[in-house]
Amino acid sequence: MASEMAPKGLGSAVYLAHMFLSQVLGSGGTGIDATAGNGYDTVFLASLAGPRGRVFAFDIQPIALQKTRLLLEQHGYAERVQLFQAGHEEMEKFVSGPVDAVIFNLGYLPGGDHGVTSSAGTTVKAVQAALNLLRPGGRVSIVVYTGHPGGEDEYQKLEGMASALDGKRFHVLKINFLNRSQRAPSVIVIEKAGYTP
Ligand code: SAH
Repeated sequence: MASEMAPKGLGSAVYLAHMFLSQVLGSGGTGIDATAGNGYDTVFLASLAGPRGRVFAFDIQPIALQKTRLLLEQHGYAERVQLFQAGHEEMEKFVSGPVDAVIFNLGYLPGGDHGVTSSAGTTVKAVQAALNLLRPGGRVSIVVYTGHPGGEDEYQKLEGMASALDGKRFHVLKINFLNRSQRAPSVIVIEKAGYTP
């Protein structure tokens, strides 16, 4: 959901996700926002990629892409970003790798239609597609929520898929808030192994 006003600290799942991605996406790099929403994560990736970098952003809702476009224009980042009204599970049709960083911020559009959410089947396919596109050393971060209908199923399926990844090819983390409710989001981070500096 929104990274808008996300406090900069370990209490923010979005901040945690950004921390991991800022280490692998630098100036001139390539990023994908799999869930553009209100556009805050797209702007974040575009700021890391810089004027010579590229960012690709996906959402299925026209309103999300309009909001994202507006926010990018306000930041002067529109030229380095390509927006697609398409499901993120199709990202390989639109983007060819290698990419440095991919962000997923699941659930519903904050301030939008809470009935339109990401869901297990397409999310799992999309994360697999993102892993195919990653360069060695590249990372995918996923902020997962269980509060919306289908959210628990999405979380379980994603965790199952991530846990089954070959440990020699991928480093896989899950971050949970230990002293918050079960409904608090989790962050899953997956790094493609094989990075040689
Ligand atoms: N990152 C955003 C918030 C994302 S909210 C921000 O910073 O504001 C989740 C978004 O995922 C919603 O806008 C929803 O339309 C989108 N979504 C749901 N299913 C999707 C799919 N299959 N492909 C791409 N986007 C999807």
